[in-house]
Amino acid sequence: MKKRIYLDYNASAPLCPLARASMYAVLERQDCALNASAIHSFGREGRKIVEDARQNLSQLIGAPPAQIIFNSGATEGNNTILRYFRDTFPDDRIAVSAGDHPSVTHGIKALDLIPLTREGVLDLNALEDLFKKGARISLVSAALCNNETGIIQDVSELSNLCQKHGAFLHCDATQAIGRIPVDLNSMGIDFITFSSHKIGGPQGVGAMAMRLCGHTPALLFGGGQEKNARAGTENVAGIAGFGTATLFAKENMPVYETLAQWRDEMEATLLQISPELIIHGKNQNRIGNTSFFSLPHVNAQTLLMAFDLEGIAISNGSACSSGSVKPSATLHAMGYDDSIAAAALRISSGWATQKSDLDGFVNAWEKIYKRIKNH
Ligand code: PMP
Repeated sequence: MKKRIYLDYNASAPLCPLARASMYAVLERQDCALNASAIHSFGREGRKIVEDARQNLSQLIGAPPAQIIFNSGATEGNNTILRYFRDTFPDDRIAVSAGDHPSVTHGIKALDLIPLTREGVLDLNALEDLFKKGARISLVSAALCNNETGIIQDVSELSNLCQKHGAFLHCDATQAIGRIPVDLNSMGIDFITFSSHKIGGPQGVGAMAMRLCGHTPALLFGGGQEKNARAGTENVAGIAGFGTATLFAKENMPVYETLAQWRDEMEATLLQISPELIIHGKNQNRIGNTSFFSLPHVNAQTLLMAFDLEGIAISNGSACSSGSVKPSATLHAMGYDDSIAAAALRISSGWATQKSDLDGFVNAWEKIYKRIKNH
């Protein structure tokens, strides 16, 4: 059987061996449950696992452990922050990047959308205009790294603008942590949210972190877990896996330079094969593992199915929801119509990717492209 190829790391990365081992150590316990909130000795064992993981996360994002709250992932984190600001400052506005993940752009109603430039970065002039008009904006939310294009946002300028207008800054760092250096304080970010499964940890666990800014957003209430900031029995096995995945990711960060080199070579070959291909954000500061492109007027769904038949798993960027293929929200925010936005494909690699995987994609591309052109 032909080797199958997985190039959909931005949707979810495979579990790394270190995370699997640390989760297994929790899951294989048959004598007890390691409930981190219980006061008995088993509970204390669970608590140590959770606090060790918090310590590991702290080193990855430059926030003190006490400022990190575990949750179920970035969707929850993003909703938590938006809802908290909406409920705490009901007369204020919240501005979010129009190219962000739906858990931000659809997290609550009545958001002000900040457009992206045609090059895919946040339009800071448009944000400045939003600040000048209407009610106060108390929160600005923008991803550190776009999940579709992989474009990295220059946060220092964004953070200065927010400070000038007295707004808090939230960055969805889901696609950034473990891939580029992130430091909450030096980047001037007030809140970040992220998920474990993009860096080789398990799905269904994530975290929110904040600077000492006087606000601790919470969404779930009732139990006193996570210092009253996130009610619900801790996912100890998941948190264990998340914690060790962060160690693995930190060590592995230089891999993204190699992935960028492979990606650039791949894009050059794709352009030779299909010169009309539009590679989004090609000249921008992009994360090394991501390539996002459109073959004008060829629907992504057709291509995704053709690649799937070849045993190659890729995505169209915004497909992480219900298996549906929708036009790219990011490309719409950059001003593209559906002839380009509904044609976009995303290739994303990661810790277990080999050069031969990208070569396999290029070979399949040549075959599929020729077939489409000969029709
Ligand atoms: N934000 C971004 C930028 C993402 O890429 C994702 C996952 N596709 C999320 C938020 C949501 O993460 P999760 O599904 O783990 O909650």
